[in-house]
Amino acid sequence: MESIAPVPLKHKIVARNSPDHLNTVEETRSERPISAEAFGSDLIWLIKQGSDPSVLAETARTLQDDLKKAALNPSRLPYVVKLADDFIGEGLGESKTEVEVDLFSDKWGEFTDKIHGATSLIGKTEPAAILQAISSLDTEQITELIIFHNNNFEKSRKAFEEKAPAWKNEFIQKAQAAIDSGQLPITRQQLEDRISLTNLDLGDGLGSPTSTTDRYGTFEDSTETAVIFQQTLREATGKKTFFHELTHAISGRAINILEPGQRYEGAGDNQRIGLRFLYPGSSPARIGLHWLNEARTESLAAQIAEVGATAYPSERQLFSLLLTSGSQPLDQKLFDEAYIEDYDPSLAPADRVPKWKAMYAAVNQAYAPGFLLKLDQYIKAKDLERIKAMLQAKSNAERAKAAEQPGGVEQALAQIQQNWRVIQEFKLLPRAA
Ligand SMILES: [Zn+2]
Repeated sequence: MESIAPVPLKHKIVARNSPDHLNTVEETRSERPISAEAFGSDLIWLIKQGSDPSVLAETARTLQDDLKKAALNPSRLPYVVKLADDFIGEGLGESKTEVEVDLFSDKWGEFTDKIHGATSLIGKTEPAAILQAISSLDTEQITELIIFHNNNFEKSRKAFEEKAPAWKNEFIQKAQAAIDSGQLPITRQQLEDRISLTNLDLGDGLGSPTSTTDRYGTFEDSTETAVIFQQTLREATGKKTFFHELTHAISGRAINILEPGQRYEGAGDNQRIGLRFLYPGSSPARIGLHWLNEARTESLAAQIAEVGATAYPSERQLFSLLLTSGSQPLDQKLFDEAYIEDYDPSLAPADRVPKWKAMYAAVNQAYAPGFLLKLDQYIKAKDLERIKAMLQAKSNAERAKAAEQPGGVEQALAQIQQNWRVIQEFKLLPRAA
């Protein structure tokens, strides 16, 4: 029988408060600058160094390619649009004088026309339009856009440094209230211990143009860092996003290290965080139950913040359906207890993740043996089909069209509403040898 209990890798799983883990967090933390950098900061650095124009142009072209990739990514496209909108709105007002004496001033009108034309089309959600606009910019125009973006990021960094400590305190207080009302199955001591390990950081939503996993912020478990994107900070839902990342911080773990004092294999390589776990290997498909982890994280964060949930709507809807579509209803508490549970390596193997086992057994009972993993595989296979269609597209327009197709979670939603047994019987294509 398949088991959802963490699969032992060739590494050691240690307790969260073990010296091994604390040392590793300390080491990875010192290797990584705590403040993440803005998209394109490498170009700014080169400009300050007085680098050769050909080097600057090449770097600008790479950034242009990254922006094009971001425009094709539904999680990143809003940030490309925001960048263009801000540049038209703020950039024109604030830096017009600078721009007039600027090397690129004669191109200003042409530039705003291109970007503005594209962003008004984006209102109609057409990635192809912004893609085309970005493609049409020359390296000087891209450079201007990157300078503007980096100046904005610095302003946000200051705002974040002011806001973050107060938000963190508010999170702790509200989480305690949620514990007291029975909505959050964690002890006050666990909450305190887990939050005290957590770093706070500002990130850039444009920073990972192809990543689809993090829409508003991210949590880096290898450095215990909650990152909120600069673009999100300014939104009304900014605080909720911050709470979402802190909810990841207090979720359960199976912490994976190589040897005492050695660093993780890569960022985020803990064997489990919350309900998300890793299969052995290095394929992107090794991430298990990402959708479920985000669904619960967002709902718990919204509950703690006492606001409505906003992120991961399809994932949350799929979770609701999972609770009610089987032969018997499932208790949400089972999932939340598993979400909070730390893997305890000091206990006998059979006793290390009792809440996980209870959750998994309940899903088996309501559906069929292994259903939770089948559902996860189904979602990943459908996502992969969509990505393949994007890669095989012959034109940008075709690629943008493929990007707009429903993702794996949406397809699973439709299927579970119709007949969940199709998911149970779903056969993965055999892996290429
Ligand atoms: Zn998340």
